[in-house]
Amino acid sequence: MVDNFYNYWKNLNWDFLSLCINQKKACDVEHALSVDKLSREDFMALLSPAAAVYLEPLAQRAKKLTRQRFGNVVNLYVPLYLSNLCANDCTYCGFSMRNHIKRKILDAEEITRECLAIKAYGFEHLLLVTGEHEVKVGMNYFRRYIQKIRAYFSSLMMEVQPLLQHEYTELKNLGLDGVVVYQETYHFNTYLQHHLRGKKQDFYWRLETPDRLGRAGIDRIGLGTLMGLSKNWRTDCYLLAEHLLYLQKTYWRSKYSISFPRLRPCVGGIEPISILSEPQLVQLMCAFRIFAPDVELSLSTRESAFFRDHMIPIAINNVSAGSKTQPGGYANHEQSELEQFELQDNRTPKQLAQAITDAGLQPVWKDWDAYLGRIIH
Ligand code: SF4
Repeated sequence: MVDNFYNYWKNLNWDFLSLCINQKKACDVEHALSVDKLSREDFMALLSPAAAVYLEPLAQRAKKLTRQRFGNVVNLYVPLYLSNLCANDCTYCGFSMRNHIKRKILDAEEITRECLAIKAYGFEHLLLVTGEHEVKVGMNYFRRYIQKIRAYFSSLMMEVQPLLQHEYTELKNLGLDGVVVYQETYHFNTYLQHHLRGKKQDFYWRLETPDRLGRAGIDRIGLGTLMGLSKNWRTDCYLLAEHLLYLQKTYWRSKYSISFPRLRPCVGGIEPISILSEPQLVQLMCAFRIFAPDVELSLSTRESAFFRDHMIPIAINNVSAGSKTQPGGYANHEQSELEQFELQDNRTPKQLAQAITDAGLQPVWKDWDAYLGRIIH
């Protein structure tokens, strides 16, 4: 009996899937673009090299579905980095334990200053981010501060180290609405090559995290892979879609979102082994929109203003703006050496909101309160 995604994943053969995707032809892409509900084979066709010359029809179909399913709105959120301490060594990240950077954990006063600075921009949707350090920034830290932070905002997501199921339940009761956990790559050996020390080396612990989130009844679950880690982004993204389908079927009460972060330069970081170009990123996002039309797609400030302005109307539901990836960065602008990676879109939240309005869409600072009906202790 399948009781977690690992049992699915172990039956999915990377090389075979890569072959299937690469063998798709123009007629397969045209078929995928002509059907209402896409099969897995159709999705492979949209991911395939053969779909590269169909960007225009892909974008048109994706845009139509985005407006149909979500209306003319785009949600704004912002990350709050609580700490850059990390007990892992990931080859692609500026927070890796091997990097000799200044480390920082925000205390109560600094958190309040950050919340007030973020609120002044108008944000209501917050994503809490930390490095992964369960001793110094673990459950005790989260217990101490989650309710306090929650009191400032309408919705609260977090992107921290994977936790136990009962810990997610506890955080949900303290006001947590959602959790983002990227698998980084679904290719086992590639995963091992890039996670050199610490608990993140445990591929399976990470792979089963969304199962624990689903069982804990977390309302919103964010998934993603890091583009540029594995040799074949198409296969990684196909496996991401398999993960999504499994979760939607198994934990159908939760809502899902997908992000497509591309590897960015950082202190001591590696170069991408495979480059996902901007046209390919467009292809990928459109393919996901068409295959899973009700799933939210997010786009962060890792991408350029030009790219985001063009992509948002086509397929994007959630965008970050004015992001600072260093702890304390909103209240104190002088700390760039603590950054996790370089950002590409440095516009202010107001400038991005204006760009969204200029595109004929409505920037949404505050969605309805997802926690209504849930008891916050
Ligand atoms: S990716 Fe996450 S776990 Fe890895 S070093 Fe960076 S902060 Fe730590």
